[in-house]
Amino acid sequence: MSETSIFTRIYAGEIPSEIIAETENAFAIRDIHPQAPVHLLVIPKTEEYRNVVELAAGDPDLLGELIGLANTLAAEHADGDFRLIFNTGPHAGQTVFHVHAHVLAGGLEEKTLGA
Ligand code: AMP
Repeated sequence: MSETSIFTRIYAGEIPSEIIAETENAFAIRDIHPQAPVHLLVIPKTEEYRNVVELAAGDPDLLGELIGLANTLAAEHADGDFRLIFNTGPHAGQTVFHVHAHVLAGGLEEKTLGA
């Protein structure tokens, strides 16, 4: 990867953001433009994988760790139910090519699919 991703820079403390949770290989922040009452990002500490397809192929255990962290956060920040979105590719809305899961929660019953 030619330049350091914004999420790596946040984890390194170079860009201000609160790390709201952390596991051995992943961390979570609040999305700066929330699309739901609870909108968190769960991110691997490595930026080796550009998207969830690469992550699933390269390190399925790390993908499982992300999902586990999302589940924990949904219980802490909402009622435990959540929507998990991995935008994959620019035509699907991906803008940061360091794989991350959007965790949406809190009163989503009336909403249609999408972040
Ligand atoms: P995506 O468009 O799926 O690649 O998601 C990238 C997400 O990162 C967007 O929802 C942005 O709002 C979010 N984002 C970008 N910069 C920051 C930041 N400095 N702090 C928190 N979230 C951010």
